[in-house]
Amino acid sequence: MVRTLDSIDSIGVVGAGTMGSGIAQVAAQSGYEVVMRDIEMEFVENGFDTIEDSLDRFVGKEKLTESEAEATLDRISGTTELADLADCDVVIEAAVENMEIKQDIFADLDDEIPEDVVLATNTSTLSITTIASVTDRPEQVVGLHFMNPVPIMTGVEVVVGEKTDEEVAAFAHDLAEDLGKETWESDDKPGFVTNRILMPWLNEGIRAYDEGVASKEDIDKGMKLGTNVPMGPLELADHIGLDICLDASQTLHEELGDRYKPAYLLKRKVDAGDLGKKTGTGFYEYD
Ligand code: NAD
Repeated sequence: MVRTLDSIDSIGVVGAGTMGSGIAQVAAQSGYEVVMRDIEMEFVENGFDTIEDSLDRFVGKEKLTESEAEATLDRISGTTELADLADCDVVIEAAVENMEIKQDIFADLDDEIPEDVVLATNTSTLSITTIASVTDRPEQVVGLHFMNPVPIMTGVEVVVGEKTDEEVAAFAHDLAEDLGKETWESDDKPGFVTNRILMPWLNEGIRAYDEGVASKEDIDKGMKLGTNVPMGPLELADHIGLDICLDASQTLHEELGDRYKPAYLLKRKVDAGDLGKKTGTGFYEYD
């Protein structure tokens, strides 16, 4: 038996980066107590800064009152100790996109967290089944793939691994909906629905820029006005994080072959440390 939504009061979040801080924020905004864990206190504090900035913007736009924003922050605690998540009713992992690291985290979570607790991963492309294989509860491991920025984007992709129990998949849909999101479901195939289709689009935009088809501004403008999307590929790649795009593209390339080969320029940018918005430089410059 797994815990059902009506018995969930607290959510553990592993990783306090772009996605972990966003997930912690929406969980706390929805009334859950949240414990947010990263490997260094500095990263936990960065996560809190991101949350405060986002809450300030909501208050500025009158989507939240000052006291709701304060109450949201009060519901989140930060830690570097995985053991501090032991009392959480569900755990969502949002650490770096690396199979070895995710498997280490899930092996530790399996030791530290009571056995009736669902363990979810926010992975963009990695196999839920492979992540779950290091635990003694693979039927309780599920993909809960939030979109970036989490406080704004309403979609969540529920990814069902080979061993994921039907009840656990249903719980994942219910939880995401309780956080104010809409869901869809994908089988555990590389990139799921969204990144299987998005990553080649981003890489083709980067290649088009590298091969001189048009300026970066015109590539983004052409795709926005030409296909009615809110961001063009170069802008969106910066927004996601170029390292995350490269990791995701490499996984898809390994699993699905040459049509997923990452663009050369994407790799060169990551090697140079120009990771997009988060480092101030990607295809564009940011303050
Ligand atoms: P990020 O680089 O912003 O943050 C990752 C955080 O994980 C860092 O703070 C890092 O210190 C921390 N971390 C590393 N090892 C850890 C460990 N053992 N325990 C706890 N924390 C650890 O990355 P992100 O963009 O937040 O991505 C996180 C996950 O979400 C990845 O799996 C990524 O593929 C996925 N994702 C990202 C996006 C996006 O647009 N950025 C969208 C959907 C899903």
